[in-house]
Amino acid sequence: MPPHAPPEPVPVAAERTRLAPSPTGALHLGNARTFLVNWALARRRGWAITLRIEDLDTPRTKPGAAQDAIDTLRWLGLDWDDGPFDQTTDPTPYTDAMRTLAADAHAYPCALTRAQIEDAASAPHERADADDPAREARFPPELRPALAPRAFDDPVTNWRFAAPDEEITFDDDFAGPQRRNVAQSVGDFVVWTKRGQPAYQLAVVVDDHRQGVTRVVRADDLLDSAARQLLLYRALGLRPEPSYTHLPLVLGPDGRRLAKRHGDTRLSHYRDVGVGAERVIGLVAAWCGVCATPEPMHADDFAAAFDLDTMPKGPITMRPEDEAWLLQR
Ligand code: GLU
Repeated sequence: MPPHAPPEPVPVAAERTRLAPSPTGALHLGNARTFLVNWALARRRGWAITLRIEDLDTPRTKPGAAQDAIDTLRWLGLDWDDGPFDQTTDPTPYTDAMRTLAADAHAYPCALTRAQIEDAASAPHERADADDPAREARFPPELRPALAPRAFDDPVTNWRFAAPDEEITFDDDFAGPQRRNVAQSVGDFVVWTKRGQPAYQLAVVVDDHRQGVTRVVRADDLLDSAARQLLLYRALGLRPEPSYTHLPLVLGPDGRRLAKRHGDTRLSHYRDVGVGAERVIGLVAAWCGVCATPEPMHADDFAAAFDLDTMPKGPITMRPEDEAWLLQR
């Protein structure tokens, strides 16, 4: 080797994922499943990991929840290569993106109230579903103004993305081939809110792109959002688009999404009553097909044994015996 040969380049991870907790409440067992799988895939496949605290939902953000999330991830034995980053410190990347969307006639200000939008909705699928508050109403296409290049000059009103009437297809690494038409399902969706902040759909795209995220792993309640996010990547000219892995939700015994009504499944609660992280990981391991029945396990052992190909495809149900196993001494 010549005496002044340049040093070997340090290998830069070509792939990167992120752990993206929202500090709107404490992390619960469903979050533990998602973060463990995400972290295990990253460590197994050599992806770098960014920790991003998604703190834009300010009305719902709870004081101390960001630090609690970090402490809880550490308690589980997870680590990351970059961050924590937040979303509220510097608005510039999001306002820049809004300027681009507005200048390219992809977004427009919309001061209509929810009631006005609902009044204008004629087709049944344009109305919110009283039995399913998570089901969004479709924004009626006739409420869209003529599209024209604009200045992003009013950051205290809602801005909507003009969803093109086209089919978005992508291959989800877990959920398989997907096909969505955003214009037909939710219509023009909010990308900037009248609180003066980017909406989740825009923030996640801007952040994933600028932080170099190529792999998005999350629960499948966000599967529909992926198509909206891909539309934003395309409208903003951002590449590469990430590949997606959407995991089935963790449900309570009644088949509804695991929540407060099912008792206290916060990870901090288990920690406070003396349940070790290895029991939580052991339960997640059983849910993920790593073992037939729960057995105490460290995060590293979970990562070594986890296999996305043998993870059960259907939703996971937290049963009373799961809770009993966690609390066993
Ligand atoms: N912050 C979101 C959550 O906690 C995750 C968003 C995402 O992964 O795109 O549900």
